[in-house]
Amino acid sequence: MHAVNIFGLVKQLNIVDVINHYKIAELKQRGRRWVARCPLPHHDDHSPSFVIFPDGKWKCFGCGEHGDVTDLIAKVLNIKLIEAARMIARDFGIEVDKLLSPAVRHKIIQQAAQEAKKREKLEKAHETMSLLVRTINNTLAAGGYQAHCDFAELAIKADYYEYLIECLLNKNTQIQMMALNSYERLI
Ligand SMILES: [Zn+2]
Repeated sequence: MHAVNIFGLVKQLNIVDVINHYKIAELKQRGRRWVARCPLPHHDDHSPSFVIFPDGKWKCFGCGEHGDVTDLIAKVLNIKLIEAARMIARDFGIEVDKLLSPAVRHKIIQQAAQEAKKREKLEKAHETMSLLVRTINNTLAAGGYQAHCDFAELAIKADYYEYLIECLLNKNTQIQMMALNSYERLI
């Protein structure tokens, strides 16, 4: 489930439908409001003190409890808010992914693509780094004129490689990306 607000989605349901579905109170309509005997376990309500307002909020004028649909289900069933929200979402067929706006869905897909690209670049950079280390070791082992040439070439780029390693070790993603992009231009 993405960073979408499940509580917000559940709140869009009609609280009357939710209460009837779980049979937690016998609702009676009074104008635009609904009333019932308070369904909260700690309140032995003899008169209908529990009121549902047109905006979907509820309040018990006997025990003073109030909230939205998720609060109510959580309190009546004595479960955590997130458990209540998930249960309602599941029972009412809310498929959170499908309710994402196209813009949000697009953003999530884009972020995933960017992350994949970054990982690919990092892997490539790590590969090159280990190749570099291997080359240095091989050159050291071989010695001679070729070693001298290879080292000369490496020495020219030494500062840059140092900079690159420093950037890659930095935790800041932007700095990592800057280094990777400069590295791509170089090779
Ligand atoms: Zn009450």
